[in-house]
Amino acid sequence: MMNQTYVFQTEVVESKQWIDRITLHNIRGVPITPPPYRDRPKTEGALLLEVETNDGVIGYATSGYAHHAAIHLMTEWVAPRILEAKADPFRTDYIASLFDRHTWERALGRMFTIVLSMVDIACWDIKGKTLGKPVHHLLGGARDRVPVYVTHGAAYEGAPPYSREELAAEAKFLADKGVTHLKNTVGRQQFPDPVDDYHRMAAMRDAVGPDVQLSMDGNLRMNLAQAMKLCQMCEELGISFIEEPIHYNDPRNLHHLRMKTTIPVAAAENEKFSTLQILQADAVDFLQPNVNNDGGYTAAMRNAAIARAFNVPLSHGNGNGPHNIALHAGLQHGGLVEYHFHKWMAYNAMFKSVPQPENGWLTVSQEPGLGLEPKDGLIEEFAVRD
Ligand SMILES: [Mg+2]
Repeated sequence: MMNQTYVFQTEVVESKQWIDRITLHNIRGVPITPPPYRDRPKTEGALLLEVETNDGVIGYATSGYAHHAAIHLMTEWVAPRILEAKADPFRTDYIASLFDRHTWERALGRMFTIVLSMVDIACWDIKGKTLGKPVHHLLGGARDRVPVYVTHGAAYEGAPPYSREELAAEAKFLADKGVTHLKNTVGRQQFPDPVDDYHRMAAMRDAVGPDVQLSMDGNLRMNLAQAMKLCQMCEELGISFIEEPIHYNDPRNLHHLRMKTTIPVAAAENEKFSTLQILQADAVDFLQPNVNNDGGYTAAMRNAAIARAFNVPLSHGNGNGPHNIALHAGLQHGGLVEYHFHKWMAYNAMFKSVPQPENGWLTVSQEPGLGLEPKDGLIEEFAVRD
């Protein structure tokens, strides 16, 4: 039983500001604009976390993993322990230390770090609001604009896969709207088919011309030989990077791929191996920490520091683009932020103000905190009670 295992009890001095309320909302069915060449998804949702301090500051965070296990973990285990500790929202490492890694992270894996990420993100929002500073200033404040790419072309909710023609047409549509860098998924066939993926990427290149950047995301679906063949065929198309092409992000295999292709390799959105293992194997050109899954800004800053020591720049690969902006704006070796088309539409539908891509760039919010405030009435209208 979880409650019979050893838990660290770090004694700390009581603060004047502490976390007084944690409320998790399961937001469902918010109408969104579907991708240009699909009629689905028509609605989106997310977990929305509210963390409120005793002096009335509210921080917000989201997660795309609206699984009942995440809800249970947050409401039954994580939130009660933080409230019991009267945790100071500035002491994010203290909050993490309330949960012994052996019990929580090792046993529950990513579900736990996803839940902890929400708490951490909301705490950084509170830090910014309390100090009157945007979060990217608190992380280092390297820049006030970040480059952005848009991911599209994956079919959801039982919709048929995109044909080459549809993929090319949608890429052209988005490029005509001012998107300067597009990413598409590869390896999604029943068995990964590098030749088919090459033709899909070539159709996109033909459609958008030489000036729009194109990248690929393998979502861990290929073996080394398949990834190698795909990269070698696609080199002539001028691909900007390939993300997570190989099963499990295996560092040795990624390293072998990287040594044999000129296409830069990015990984670590879906981490199985540690950041250190990936960097020690010279496995990536870009490391992809993810504030929404790995443990919030606190964990992302730790992984970013390791990457800095190896002179490896960061980039981002994950549907929660707007929440990752602060990391990439904050750090000198920060990089590209991903806007996944329908998740981008979901943020637009749920939050009052979301930075919008303009000629390949996002202008970072200068509001105190993260600048991501839920729309009035969102919770009342769309939170599911179960
Ligand atoms: Mg990815």
